[in-house]
Amino acid sequence: MSKNVSVCLSFDFDAISVWVGPRGTRSPPLIARGEFGEVGAHRILTLLEEHQIPGTWFIPGHTIDTYPEVCKRIAAAGHEIGYHGYCHEAPSSKRDEYDERDILERSIACIERISGKSPVGHRLPGGNPGTRWVNMLLEHGFSYDSSMAPHDFEPTYMRLGDVVHTDGPHEFGREVDLVILPFDWILDDWPYFNYEPAGGRQRLRSPNDVYDIWAAEFDYLYQKLGSGVFVLTMHPQCIGKGSRMLMLERLIAHMKRHDGVRFQAMADVADAFRARQS
Ligand SMILES: [Zn+2]
Repeated sequence: MSKNVSVCLSFDFDAISVWVGPRGTRSPPLIARGEFGEVGAHRILTLLEEHQIPGTWFIPGHTIDTYPEVCKRIAAAGHEIGYHGYCHEAPSSKRDEYDERDILERSIACIERISGKSPVGHRLPGGNPGTRWVNMLLEHGFSYDSSMAPHDFEPTYMRLGDVVHTDGPHEFGREVDLVILPFDWILDDWPYFNYEPAGGRQRLRSPNDVYDIWAAEFDYLYQKLGSGVFVLTMHPQCIGKGSRMLMLERLIAHMKRHDGVRFQAMADVADAFRARQS
């Protein structure tokens, strides 16, 4: 059976926003971690250029406004740029609709300014995609979301109106025209590589451990399923360190050795899925 695997390398370029927004910190060492994101982003861009790979970058408006030069380099290289909040805000039913719309539209405007295009991809910077939020995404022409994974290697459609029962089966709502491309922590660099001193329990993982997990996930998809989409989620401030960049390059080389594997922007994978359904 011929193989058909799409690989999407996605980068959540949170930079400083993730520290000063949801975490509310003003700590210079933590802000400096975010600053390192700019260094990492340049390294990633060079790697993608060397391997001729299209990437998908989810960039908060705050990062675009703080680091316009590297964001211009991302856009100029032809990479897709998707929505990731202004200052990494999670949609919240506690906020009023006017504020939520303001965050969404302000962030879209940042992406339009840097790339000349409206984003079609969306990744939540935390929180839950409620009905109001999903309807706003549809209204603004989004094609896909990548914040959850009902299937690890297949796109699905977003649902609205699920009814939760605890004394009977789950009642599934109706599908809406927003494709879900898998996002799962197992294929995300943050839990392996982000050290939280205050947490105490966590230790940094060796890039070799992470290579073993990610390569085995890919191998299972390739060998056992034969077709599907493999979405990696990385953060320039995590993956941008030397040992991890070398691991990523090794993984790219591993995947490239397989016939029927294509590196694609996520928007293209969503379009292809939609075309197959109609
Ligand atoms: Zn993020």
